[in-house]
Amino acid sequence: MPYLEKLDTVIRDIIEPAAVATDRDAVFPRTAIAALGETGLLGLVSATGVGGMGFDLAAAAQVVEHIARACPSTAMVVTMHYCGTTVIEKFGADSIRREIAAGQHLTTLAWSDMGSRSHFWASVGSTRPDGDAYLLDCDKTMVTAAGEADSYVWSSPPVKAAGASTLWLVGSKTEGLSQPQLFDGMGLRGNGSSPLSCKALRLPASAMLGSDGGGFDIMLGAVLPVFSVLIASCSQGIMEAALERACAHASASKFEHLGSALADLPTIRAYLARARIRADMARTLRDDTLAALAGGRADAMLRVMQTKAAAAEAALEVTDVAMRVCGGAAFRRDVGVERYFRDARAASVMAPTSDVLFDFIGKAVCGMPVFD
Ligand SMILES: Cc1cc2nc3c(=O)[nH]c(=O)nc-3n(C[C@H](O)[C@H](O)[C@H](O)COP(=O)(O)OP(=O)(O)OC[C@H]3O[C@@H](n4cnc5c(N)ncnc54)[C@H](O)[C@@H]3O)c2cc1C
Repeated sequence: MPYLEKLDTVIRDIIEPAAVATDRDAVFPRTAIAALGETGLLGLVSATGVGGMGFDLAAAAQVVEHIARACPSTAMVVTMHYCGTTVIEKFGADSIRREIAAGQHLTTLAWSDMGSRSHFWASVGSTRPDGDAYLLDCDKTMVTAAGEADSYVWSSPPVKAAGASTLWLVGSKTEGLSQPQLFDGMGLRGNGSSPLSCKALRLPASAMLGSDGGGFDIMLGAVLPVFSVLIASCSQGIMEAALERACAHASASKFEHLGSALADLPTIRAYLARARIRADMARTLRDDTLAALAGGRADAMLRVMQTKAAAAEAALEVTDVAMRVCGGAAFRRDVGVERYFRDARAASVMAPTSDVLFDFIGKAVCGMPVFD
């Protein structure tokens, strides 16, 4: 797979060496994103007709997982870029699609509103006509790559149609946008997930992505499968990295007075075994979700909801085990486990959160309408 070879080079030469500083200093991984652009990987899922690589979701999942093993902050930026690209590929202008395909344009999703919190599908704020344009007012809680991306796939209440939201392509330099606060998170510290506000943000009709009021269907039909699989892949990469480090630490750490290693303790091995099973179950579900989507299976949407919840919760457990197995040493940053422990916390609270997904999945298995 030539794209994986290119990716491995970028990871080895740029992403991995910068990962600790990206987290410690909470710096956006600009050099990594530029390198991913130069190698064509920001255009991985863009159509070949606009100069992209034309790969599918399975390839994007591999890319995100590989990056997450080295730097989950960078992997989340790429995840949100591929999600935004999915919408732009369907509804955006060819000029922007070509820029994305050429690696010269980073995009992201700006959906979570202060007023509706994690219920991103219910946009709040206001959208009103102004001559032949529209004026938007709203406050977004957290936007990955805020102030760093070139555009935002932005949600607002519909202008006049029924429905929960309308999507827009908002250039990051558009007048009326502001970033009230910089991101200083406990995890994914490099991904720049700051709040963004817009006051009288003026957009032409051509900035609308899809139809007025059509945002909900795009969010659920087009983006949720991509987002769920990719964020699950990010969690998978985190689990692999944490387990690799925990196993290496358990094998290398000796009790000199006993002539044995941590890994000689059956309890330590059992912890690692359970964590390995949990990670492999999440991977199997992620891969079956990809198969369900590719084959148009009837259970595809159930799998989509399951894979995000399963991987996010598994990553919480696996990174917790990695901390326990590595003992007091895990508190030291140089052992390299605590970064993954912190980064793993995000997926379960990124919308749709695990709790919301449990409710949706519960409704589905009880035969109730899920999205009513
Ligand atoms: C690192 C990071 C990056 C992010 N990037 C983006 C981005 O790029 N774009 C974007 O739009 N958003 C982004 N977000 C925001 C994210 O998607 C969520 O909207 C946000 O994390 C939710 O936080 P909150 O405090 O508003 O949650 P709240 O809605 O206040 O939820 C608090 C708790 O209540 C639970 N809860 C809420 N509703 C229900 C329910 N119906 N049933 C059961 N439990 C419920 C939740 O599970 C959670 O445990 C990001 C968040 C993080 C942490």
